[in-house]
Amino acid sequence: MSVSDRIRQSLLALHMARALETLDHTLARLEKSEISAIEAIDDLLAEELNLREGRRIGAALRTARLMPVKTLESFDFSFQPSLNRHRITALAQLEFINRAEVLHFLGPPGTGKSHLATAIGVAAVKAGRCVYRCSLAELIEALTKAEREGRLVEKIRFYTRASLLIVDEIGYLPITPGGANLFFQLVNARYEKGAMILTSNRGFAEWGEVFGDPVLATALLDRLLHHAVVVQIEGASYRLRQHADLIPEHTRAHANLTPPPAPSVLHAPMPSGRRSAPPPSTSLPGKSTAWASWCASLVPASRSA
Ligand code: ADP
Ligand code: MG
Repeated sequence: MSVSDRIRQSLLALHMARALETLDHTLARLEKSEISAIEAIDDLLAEELNLREGRRIGAALRTARLMPVKTLESFDFSFQPSLNRHRITALAQLEFINRAEVLHFLGPPGTGKSHLATAIGVAAVKAGRCVYRCSLAELIEALTKAEREGRLVEKIRFYTRASLLIVDEIGYLPITPGGANLFFQLVNARYEKGAMILTSNRGFAEWGEVFGDPVLATALLDRLLHHAVVVQIEGASYRLRQHADLIPEHTRAHANLTPPPAPSVLHAPMPSGRRSAPPPSTSLPGKSTAWASWCASLVPASRSA
């Protein structure tokens, strides 16, 4: 048996299908002295590794429910001038995941909130992080079903396992009191342990209405804004960019959006120097009574918190 036949057999036994496929081509280049022996080994291993990495990423993207894939490269920042490209690129470096922070994308429909959340999720998957994405309605439906079947603890454990949980579309559909309570339990379970990205077309001041309970909304915001980064998008819908003239003026932008207290939330300080971000331009109340009342002030007070 020739050496190349032996290599072929070894690659087959090692299930290195891609290396086996490229072997003849690599050997031909070696014979023509186009590459050295060490480069030939490097070639074969790189081909195999690339294929496996591509498969791993594909499977992880499907498991994370990040299909169809969106990327920052395919995002047209010139269409959304309110967005700071460098800030979004910095977020895609994923440090916020290590710090277990919550990243909020707020803005009217079609402004790219889900696109950006997905793109950051895709970057996280590529970096080997465990990610899971769902809409708030899907999340609550799954938790409600699990509770009915006596599997709530297990289900909450499932959602806390991902190092990044993306909850899309907060504010579109009405939420039952039971559903809001289940979401609170999950947020509580992830608080300071795992990062989240939330997208919403509603400002924080409207969360009392969104969750049908101002007291619960205050408690949710207390946790979701403590170590938070808020990115507010103010602009037109990308979906409707070719039909802007057909859209009534009042729905073009700012639809249903009450601006959050952006300057204070943008750099919500982390305790004991966990953040490396510059100090906030406007100081934010600490995790204290002041913080609680600040959160409470975000929710219209139909009941006292
Ligand atoms: P939202 O979640 O804010 O309602 P999406 O992120 O779902 O909006 O965007 C709607 C569609 O438009 C998606 O297909 C998305 O990829 C695309 N899109 C939105 N904004 C941009 C943009 N600035 N550049 C490229 N595609 C965009
Ligand atoms: Mg969306």
